[in-house]
Amino acid sequence: MKNSSLSADRKEAREFQTSSSGLFFKVKKVLYEKKSPFQKIEIIENDFYGRVLFLDGLVQTTERDEFFYHEMLVHPALAIHPRPEKVLIIGGGDGGALREVLKHPVRKAWLVEIDQDVIRACERYFPWLDRALSDRRAELAVADGFDFIQKTTEKFEVIIVDSSDPVGPSAILHAREFYRKLKKILKPDGLIAAQAGSQLLHLREHSQKAAFLRPMFKFARFYSAPVPTYPVGTWCYTLLSDRIDPLAVKKLRLPSGLKYFNAEVFRASFAQPVFFEQALREKG
Ligand code: SAM
Repeated sequence: MKNSSLSADRKEAREFQTSSSGLFFKVKKVLYEKKSPFQKIEIIENDFYGRVLFLDGLVQTTERDEFFYHEMLVHPALAIHPRPEKVLIIGGGDGGALREVLKHPVRKAWLVEIDQDVIRACERYFPWLDRALSDRRAELAVADGFDFIQKTTEKFEVIIVDSSDPVGPSAILHAREFYRKLKKILKPDGLIAAQAGSQLLHLREHSQKAAFLRPMFKFARFYSAPVPTYPVGTWCYTLLSDRIDPLAVKKLRLPSGLKYFNAEVFRASFAQPVFFEQALREKG
């Protein structure tokens, strides 16, 4: 995917998906701009989507539609685990995933974000992050997720990978080695949910992932749902476990206060179109 940024006159922000198509946002106001040691961080105000976070020119979160993504990333795993006590989130510095995890009766949730500047900017402009971090069950670690999982002595019932696209500091979070190490810190009945990219734009990456995830986990399912401001509009996630098959679960534990996710959406999200199923069967 090709990225971009604020235009020179700062009237619009664009995310290019291919060299001939993309998304654009009219910029009402530039709220924040910084080049951190890891990436370029921008937050703008848009009349319809509210505050919009870009990292290296790619849309991460908008106030208006972030619930599509965060609910679909977090609740499928948490709603089907019988007793999720310890939850690890890798990435996710905008705080939406942590906020959703804390809707469940978990004992502790770790947020491991590599970029302190993302945390600072989002605390200021997306108030749900500050609220989530104030929850006594939440713990923030500013660290590389790959280093964190090699050092931690904890084991988790649920691990959520809320990474950016497979470029820059996030590239490692999409690799086989990362999943191999994640598995070691997952409880035997645990589940991993990870964002996996666009159905159409990242088709090759999906076949590569399926090729290493399917032999690694007894159940390696792909599911998808819309995210209006993500490239091409349909987003994919993986749900991995050695004990729990999401397709066989009869009863979901749904917290209150959800806007997108319910049992029907959960079941429907595992239905995949022909071209995607074919790509998953191909060896990447
Ligand atoms: N919903 C998003 C999207 O558009 O795909 C992802 C959101 S979240 C903001 C991704 C976060 O992962 C970023 O804040 C980034 O700094 C963080 N990140 C990237 N690489 C990381 C790593 N190796 N360890 C921990 N966090 C990382």
